[in-house]
Amino acid sequence: MQHFSTDALILRATPRGDHDKLLMVLAPKFGRFYAILKGAGSMRHREVAATEPYTLSNMEFYEKNGVKWVKNATAVETFPGLRTDMDKLFLAAYVAEVAAELSDEREDGGEILPLTLNTLHMLSSSKEERQHIKAVFEWRAAAVAGFMPEVDHCQRCGGAVGEQCYLDVMGGAVICGACLQTASAMRPIPEVSEMGERSILCPLTASAAAAMDYVIKADQKRIFAFQLKDELSRNLFARATEAYLLHHLERGFPTLESYKRMQAPHPHLFQNSILTRTEDI
Ligand SMILES: [Zn+2]
Repeated sequence: MQHFSTDALILRATPRGDHDKLLMVLAPKFGRFYAILKGAGSMRHREVAATEPYTLSNMEFYEKNGVKWVKNATAVETFPGLRTDMDKLFLAAYVAEVAAELSDEREDGGEILPLTLNTLHMLSSSKEERQHIKAVFEWRAAAVAGFMPEVDHCQRCGGAVGEQCYLDVMGGAVICGACLQTASAMRPIPEVSEMGERSILCPLTASAAAAMDYVIKADQKRIFAFQLKDELSRNLFARATEAYLLHHLERGFPTLESYKRMQAPHPHLFQNSILTRTEDI
């Protein structure tokens, strides 16, 4: 039987039988792995808190017949701000799901673990708009995954991106407004690629493109240390980062869909009011 202990971020916890939980964790040196938590129902409150999703805990494991089991867990950082806000909790679930997608057992947690911890910390404690935190995370995650577009110049003319520019999502580059309109000097962007995929062009402002450049190049600890003041740039930045990450990972995320449903007006409330009216008649 092999014992080891490490700090680990709980990415997911699913019930396994009546009393056990299957944890997916991400740890420095060990990467992402699964471990079984036995008798979760009979644990003391402090230990339960240490095995909740999106908690960083110091954990002791033992391995038997190729299966890892949790022996002890002590919470290091619970990100309490996430626990009192459903919206933030749904976004944390999405961040954890992306982290799971971008890590595996062979890697050491690399840059994705500090990025995820940094993002959970911002979501939990910062006053920054959550859509902006999500966008910075998505853009840096895309860079960590190796999809690092060049956004500091126009890919076509090599010049400054200008106030109106576009992110070519499939091509991983920025194109200035002039190049997009002046078809005479440039070959037009094909509507369908060789792979049969439709081109996606996300409009950007110069500020949004500069933000993208900053988030790619900044030191990990400084990625949130900038401001995008105008609302248009913030919205375009947020739209483009999500489209880019999802496109390049070639998948959607159920947790992101849940988060978006949370943002939408609640249709069941509307339906209830219709039902009430019908009854009145
Ligand atoms: Zn250009």
